[in-house]
Amino acid sequence: MWDLVGHEQATQRLSLSLRRGHLAHAYLLTGPASVGKTTLAYRLAQALNCANPEPPCRQCRSCRLVDTGNHPDVRVLQLRPAENGSEDGGGQDAHEEREGKRGSKNKKNLGIDAIREVIREAALSPYEARYKVYTVLNAETLSADAANSILKLLEEPPRQVVLILTAADANMLLPTVVSRCQEIRLQPVPTAAIVTHLRQQGLEPEKAELLARLSGGRAGWAISAAADDSLLGERQTLLKRLLRGGSGGTGERVALAGQLAADFSKQRQSVEMALELWVMWWRDVLLVQAEAADLVGNLDRMAELRAQAAGCSPSRVRSYLARIETARVQLAQNVNPRLAFEALLLASPAVGPL
Ligand SMILES: [Zn+2]
Repeated sequence: MWDLVGHEQATQRLSLSLRRGHLAHAYLLTGPASVGKTTLAYRLAQALNCANPEPPCRQCRSCRLVDTGNHPDVRVLQLRPAENGSEDGGGQDAHEEREGKRGSKNKKNLGIDAIREVIREAALSPYEARYKVYTVLNAETLSADAANSILKLLEEPPRQVVLILTAADANMLLPTVVSRCQEIRLQPVPTAAIVTHLRQQGLEPEKAELLARLSGGRAGWAISAAADDSLLGERQTLLKRLLRGGSGGTGERVALAGQLAADFSKQRQSVEMALELWVMWWRDVLLVQAEAADLVGNLDRMAELRAQAAGCSPSRVRSYLARIETARVQLAQNVNPRLAFEALLLASPAVGPL
C-alpha cells in the first residue's frame, strides 16, 4: 500500500520494477515542493526492504522501522530545518516534521562530511535488510563537493545500495548526477483527488475545495493546511503583502523587493512560496479573463480577481507570468536576490485599487 494522494503512475511503475527485480541503483524524484516526493521516498525505502509480497505493506517490522526512522539500513539526509526554511511540508504525512524535530542519528547536514560517511558506510553490507537505502532530500542543496562525492558513488554503485534523491527540478542538479538516476517526475495531484482525501479526513466540503484549489496540486500542503490553520493564515499574509506591493508606486515596490531579498537569505522556502502565490494570482487573473473562473485557485478572492482581470490585458498577464518564471530560475542560480526581486516587482502590472 503506497498510500499516497495521487501519483498512481509513479507507484505502478515502481511496483512493476520491484516485482520484476529491475531496480535502478539510484532514483531521482522531482516535482514541486509538498507534492509528495518525501513521502514517496520513504515508501520506496520501505518497499525495497518489505517482508510482504505486496510492498510496501507498512505493517511488517522493516516497514515500521522505516516509519519511525529507526531502520539501521535506511538513512535520510537533509539540511537542518533552519537552513532549509521552515518546511518542505513536502510530506503528505508526518515524516518531515519528525525529521525536523528528532535530531536522531539519521539526520545529517548535507555537507561533504555527511556524504563521505555515507560513502564509507555504503561499502559495507546491510545489517539486516536486502538493501541499504540512502535518501538525500532536496539534493539541490548539496554543496558542490558533496554533489561530486555523490557522483562518485553513482559511478561505482556498491551492490545492495539504492540511492534516492529528491529535488524540485532535475535542472538544479549536476547533469552527470541526473543521467545516472532513474528520474520519476511527480506531477501536481488533481484537485479532485485532494478534495476526496480531505473529505475522507472529515474536512467540510467548502474548506476541502478551497485548500485543494489553493494547493495547486501540492497535496502535502493541503493536508498540512487542513491540520494547521496557521498555514492558511501565513498564505493570506504573504498574498496581502504582495498585493500591497503591487498596488504601490516605485518606492513601495522597491521596499518590498528589499524585504523579500532579506527574507530570501533567511527563509528561502517562504520566499519561494511567495513566488508561487504570485504565479497563482496571475494565473487566476488569466482564468477569469478566459471566463474559466471555476478553475481559479484563490476561490476566496473572486471580487479582487475580477477587478484585476478587467484592468489589464491577457497578453500583459502572460508576459508577466513568464517574467516571474525567469526570476525563479535566476534565484535558483543564485543571482543577486535584490536585483531579481526589484526587476520583478517593478515590472508588475498595477494591482488594485483593492
Ligand atoms: Zn512491509
